[in-house]
Amino acid sequence: MVVRPPYGFNESFFQSECITCESKACVTSCDEQIIFIEEDGIPRLDFSKSGCTFCEDCASACEANVLSLEHTHTSEQINAVFRISTEGCVAHHGVICFSCKEPCIDDAILFNGLFNPVIDTDKCTGCGFCLGRCPTQAISFDAIAMATYPNETE
Ligand code: SF4
Ligand code: SF4
Ligand code: SF4
Repeated sequence: MVVRPPYGFNESFFQSECITCESKACVTSCDEQIIFIEEDGIPRLDFSKSGCTFCEDCASACEANVLSLEHTHTSEQINAVFRISTEGCVAHHGVICFSCKEPCIDDAILFNGLFNPVIDTDKCTGCGFCLGRCPTQAISFDAIAMATYPNETE
């Protein structure tokens, strides 16, 4: 499973449409420069240098409607689940560090006082901004299936 740009419908739609897309307009539309094309011709996100602002530019640029604002189930949600390693995170070992909390505009990183941060998966949009900020690379993620509303799969 791969992390795709927001505003997608489901993985099959990426697989069927993006391989024949010549413009790859989503890539150049993204000011954060987090969209990359894989060898199979399908876009994926790379959070190593930045994250997604949900600016909607990639959805506007995609003429094939693989990315579209009509896909409301992924309009502010990327198909990734983030976590903080309690082994790697220094704030789980008595060191004060808020490097991940500061860029998280959704306030999805919860501290117990000054320490022991965890990610609230209900609040986390998968934007990825926290990932590159962690000095010990203690934040990781897994791609998950894009949720779809039942009436959109018919
Ligand atoms: S512009 Fe749309 S169809 Fe083309 S690669 Fe990007 S997401 Fe796929
Ligand atoms: S919504 Fe904006 S920042 Fe996010 S991937 Fe699309 S173009 Fe990039
Ligand atoms: S915890 Fe989630 S919402 Fe907050 S910065 Fe990290 S990926 Fe984005």
